[in-house]
Amino acid sequence: MSRERLYLFDTTLRDGAQTNGVDFTLGDKIAIARMLDELGVDYVEAGYPGANPTDTGFFAEKRPAQAKITAFGMTRRPGRSTSNDPGLAALLDAEADAICFVAKSSDYHVRVALETTEEENLASIRDSVRAAKAKGREVLLDCEHFFDGYKANPAYALACARAAYDEGARWVVLCDTNGGTLPLEVEKIVGEVCKQIPGDHVGIHAHNDTEQAVANSFAAVRAGARQIQGTLNGLGERCGNANLVSIIPTLKLKAEYADKFEIGVSDEALGHIARVSHGLDDILNRAADRHAPYVGESAFATKAGIHASAIIKDPATYEHVPPERVGNKRKLLVSDQSGRSNLLVELDRIGFAIDKDDPRLSRLLDEVKEREAIGYAYETADASFELLARRLLGKVPRYFDVEKFDVSVEQRINAKGERVTVSMAVVKVRVGDELLISAAEGNGPVNALDVALRKDLGKYQGYITGLELTDYRVRILNAGTEAVTRVLIESADETGDHWTTIGVSSNIIDASFQALMDSIVYKLVKSGAPA
Ligand SMILES: [Zn+2]
Repeated sequence: MSRERLYLFDTTLRDGAQTNGVDFTLGDKIAIARMLDELGVDYVEAGYPGANPTDTGFFAEKRPAQAKITAFGMTRRPGRSTSNDPGLAALLDAEADAICFVAKSSDYHVRVALETTEEENLASIRDSVRAAKAKGREVLLDCEHFFDGYKANPAYALACARAAYDEGARWVVLCDTNGGTLPLEVEKIVGEVCKQIPGDHVGIHAHNDTEQAVANSFAAVRAGARQIQGTLNGLGERCGNANLVSIIPTLKLKAEYADKFEIGVSDEALGHIARVSHGLDDILNRAADRHAPYVGESAFATKAGIHASAIIKDPATYEHVPPERVGNKRKLLVSDQSGRSNLLVELDRIGFAIDKDDPRLSRLLDEVKEREAIGYAYETADASFELLARRLLGKVPRYFDVEKFDVSVEQRINAKGERVTVSMAVVKVRVGDELLISAAEGNGPVNALDVALRKDLGKYQGYITGLELTDYRVRILNAGTEAVTRVLIESADETGDHWTTIGVSSNIIDASFQALMDSIVYKLVKSGAPA
């Protein structure tokens, strides 16, 4: 039986760009559009031409892609003609393959928000679709507030969708704009719409306000819709949009969908989806969600020793799909619950073949347990674990010694009469016979220490130039009688690798220093710096 084609529409650059704290540059948008195109989505909605300089810049020239580059904007304003609406003109002039109009489909919103008549709203939809088709664009209509509108007045909501479809729109997209509709309702309403408009012209645009945007997208597909709109990592206003990074692997790997539907994402591209997800986090300068389905670092992580030994015998025992299909990897956590089998697998992964009866294995396990008892957490700090293992097995060169460091924090009133806090660090490092002294200012003591430490490592400097700290997390733990601070630092380098290091101390600067040192030493080991 031949499979039906299901289309993917990405709106990371439009709806996702409306997320609090997200501000894409033109360069970011071009890079993300390329990632999405390589992934194999069918439509890349890149923004709202005319609304801001970045989006206008994006659509000022043709952006070559396999995917259809889509411009987003409103239908003509009520009471205007299509030829006398500057917003619509910007949309029609945009260098885009497709235009996605947004229009109200709830009579309540037409009256209250748009302050016009139901008939004028329908005329605006028809006129806009016609104008875009005349420009040779493929046309989509986002029916805003469709589900709420349908519940209040099904005839009018349907009339809006029909107006676009009858005028030749390729897709009418049913939007759960407020994100409050539940899967059973979505399935029922989409089913009713598909009796009027063929499902291969119907799309779903779900928001995640009840954590069910992905479930709602699948509910719509079950009811007949054949286009799913969503974003990378579920980026989007409020609680986000449907997460395509979860939807795509499910469509490809779960028989219920994979047997029935074909999508534009190849098996090979699916194998890079974890990288695509983390690539967006990098651009946003955010730490990746460890617990993200399929692509999170913990998605295929196992802690308990008993599960770990079963996984070694047959991974399928505790994994719903093979991690490598989505570019992820199996991870057996080294933790105070772990047995020797976890440790052996982890050691094997980092390149140490060691016999299970080797006495060094017990020493390492004891060391890990002892350190975890005082607050270290190696299941997150993979790089610190690797260094610990390498040190115990005698394989980390002594690249440099920090003989002394000094960190100061000063708060004062500056010349403009403002209260400012300045941090300063001085570090004395010995590299072989060389004694190097570096000083640096920072926006905080840890930042100053980091900058000073990495300023001059003598002959090793060239190995750490691509090193970058991407996240810094602090937790205060109550271990025994005194509070201790645990610092986790996430680093990345020019090859795109990420690693996490840890420091624990009653003093936050000390803890940060340990984690910083581990990160630098890890980078040197990783880059093959000579001893
Ligand atoms: Zn939306």
